[in-house]
Amino acid sequence: MHTAASEPSKLKVKVIITNPFPFFPECIPEELKRDPRWVCCNRRKVPYVALVGEKETASSADPVTWRSYSEALEAFYAGRYAGIGRVIVTGEGFIGIDLDGVRNPDTGRIDDDARRLLSRLDSYCEVSPSGRGVKVWVRGGLPISYVKPGLEVYTRGRYFTVTGQMLPQYPATIEERTGTLTEIVAEEFPRPESRRCYSGPYSGPRLDLDQVLETGSVNVLAEISDASADRKYRILCPWIEEHTAAPETGTVVGQYPSGATFFHCWHSHCRHRRWRDFINYLRWFSSWRSSLPDYTGGSSEVSGIG
Ligand SMILES: [Zn+2]
Repeated sequence: MHTAASEPSKLKVKVIITNPFPFFPECIPEELKRDPRWVCCNRRKVPYVALVGEKETASSADPVTWRSYSEALEAFYAGRYAGIGRVIVTGEGFIGIDLDGVRNPDTGRIDDDARRLLSRLDSYCEVSPSGRGVKVWVRGGLPISYVKPGLEVYTRGRYFTVTGQMLPQYPATIEERTGTLTEIVAEEFPRPESRRCYSGPYSGPRLDLDQVLETGSVNVLAEISDASADRKYRILCPWIEEHTAAPETGTVVGQYPSGATFFHCWHSHCRHRRWRDFINYLRWFSSWRSSLPDYTGGSSEVSGIG
């Protein structure tokens, strides 16, 4: 006979035991396993350091929090984590592509558009933990990452869960695909040239945002597709040392079709900072002041003093 008292204890057991993602380690490409770039994660994909003892969050920007594949495996099999993940690192030559919401988890059917993309990439791919997406690993070089709803291409600054639940119709190995991926990026993340001519209420000088970021050595993490902006990038905040939680996320710069530029960082220390603060910082930080048009909004140089 059921008693009311038996229900809470049942619930408690459910909370303690982590329900793991599907996991087929034998299918994970050996080249991903080689270097210590591994983390563990919970059901909500929060990354953790692969430790068996204490629990400590990890960051895809902090190599100190990464471990070897075997350490990640050991921590995962200890039963406290839902899965393991591999960090995508600059200059290593791996690119991770995430296609979200393209697969029916019940039937396994993948959308036609996504299948065309997967055939072109023709490299190792696996089903994501939710069963609704596909993650592809290729070898290649791209200058930055590209992000829009449903399609994310990462060259760094991210970790991907790795399930080993590979799609057998594609290679079991990670293939070099720089050319194909460059074409795909050009098609999927087009630059709206015509909108450059639009003249809105903003009438200041038009800066070349890409040039500013390059000259200022700004660390661009990803280009973000955003219908309201001509271009928009996720960057590393110049004031990153002042951030507390998740320091590498939440900072964007961009340019509207009118030419106006913006900077926004949601971290509390940066909340008051705007484009002018950002450009002033770049000017202060580097010695390229003379190569930039004055863009501080009317502040003029006073000569002859001092
Ligand atoms: Zn900031």
